[in-house]
Amino acid sequence: MTSVPHVVILGGGFGGLSAANELRNTLTSSQVKITIIDKKDWFMVGFAKLWIINGTRTFENSTGSLNELGKKEIDFIKDEILSINVKDKNVKTKTLEISFDFLIISMGAVLAPDRIPGLEQNGFNLYDHNHLLEIREKLESIKSGKIAISIMGMPYKCPPAPFEASLLIDSMLRKRGIRDFVQIDFYSPAPIALPAAGPEVSRQILELVNSEQIVFHNSSKIKSVESKKLIFEDGEVNFDLLLAIPPHIAPKVIYDSGLAKEPGFIPIDRDCETPFENVFAVGDVTSLVVTENMAVPKAGIFAEGEGITVAKNISSQILSNEESVLFNGKGGCFIESGRNTASIIEVDMFSHSTPSTNLTESTSDNLSKKVQFEKERLSKWL
Ligand SMILES: Cc1cc2nc3c(=O)[nH]c(=O)nc-3n(C[C@H](O)[C@H](O)[C@H](O)COP(=O)(O)OP(=O)(O)OC[C@H]3O[C@@H](n4cnc5c(N)ncnc54)[C@H](O)[C@@H]3O)c2cc1C
Repeated sequence: MTSVPHVVILGGGFGGLSAANELRNTLTSSQVKITIIDKKDWFMVGFAKLWIINGTRTFENSTGSLNELGKKEIDFIKDEILSINVKDKNVKTKTLEISFDFLIISMGAVLAPDRIPGLEQNGFNLYDHNHLLEIREKLESIKSGKIAISIMGMPYKCPPAPFEASLLIDSMLRKRGIRDFVQIDFYSPAPIALPAAGPEVSRQILELVNSEQIVFHNSSKIKSVESKKLIFEDGEVNFDLLLAIPPHIAPKVIYDSGLAKEPGFIPIDRDCETPFENVFAVGDVTSLVVTENMAVPKAGIFAEGEGITVAKNISSQILSNEESVLFNGKGGCFIESGRNTASIIEVDMFSHSTPSTNLTESTSDNLSKKVQFEKERLSKWL
């Protein structure tokens, strides 16, 4: 190890920023050098995308700059990561080769619309920040017809988010006085609304969307998309506007480096270790299986918890103390109702023999907590 150990963090999202801040809050710059590499120089809380769609936000006032990290003596390099050599302990970007003592891989999941024939030509990607303004324009101009929200692969980020999107879109159409003329259909390959939250919470979510006349179609496995037509394994339906959640995969460099098998994610346990010494992985780029049918959902709150876990364990190693912690699997995701309230799906993945989940009441207080959640992350991390 070099005199000052070097922790390199790949990806400046929830996992990377929480890990970097936890490390820097514990160790000084003479005890650890921290470098974050990301191809973009901004961070945004995922759910702000839905606020851009409903017009309560702009992209510009929803992001924090990763260039601010320098103030905390966390180096930031804006560059694309091209290869990871876990044995020789170095990473190559387009312009640099960087060696590490510890590596935290927090590169998130990649949206892969190209895996569904016809999707890119005929539908919008609900999770892609480049599509948000156009989606908003379409929702502002639609007068009648059918909106389809379609989940096209599992697992995907923030399982409740597409349901939340359907409720916010319902609210936009209600405000425009045209809700009665627009049908909202929700298609999912899963048998229940939220497999990650179990049957009871799924039933409650279904009740919530049904109460706004949003129709949920389960077990709808997509094959392809044509002009104004979704082709499922067992039939086809028409739409006027398609908002898709495309399949998610890991970044190509993860497959190239042998850390995961395409189209899967890096398998980890609660210590977030990979089989390679001092190489850790956290967040959406990983798969942490809890039971035969359940893995830790892809959500910022869990990426954050894993990032903190790894940072604590790296600090312990650097300080040569024996303490180590495991990721506790606790977190919550918000569901905004579109009526100025929100509920929270509270999850505890490891407390019992099976994960426990609970849907709170929908209140204005929870909506304030959601706003606060974003504010806190932007202010404490950047
Ligand atoms: C609409 C929506 C609503 C959501 N709501 C919630 C919510 O209420 N609660 C919640 O907890 N989560 C929510 N999420 C999910 C949350 O945003 C993600 O789970 C979270 O961002 C995952 O964090 P991460 O650090 O694993 O990955 P990310 O935050 O995706 O960060 C990965 C980073 O790696 C970088 N990167 C990837 N490949 C490369 C490369 N080759 N070179 C350089 N850089 C690279 C990317 O640019 C990115 O910045 C929501 C997501 C969406 C889309």
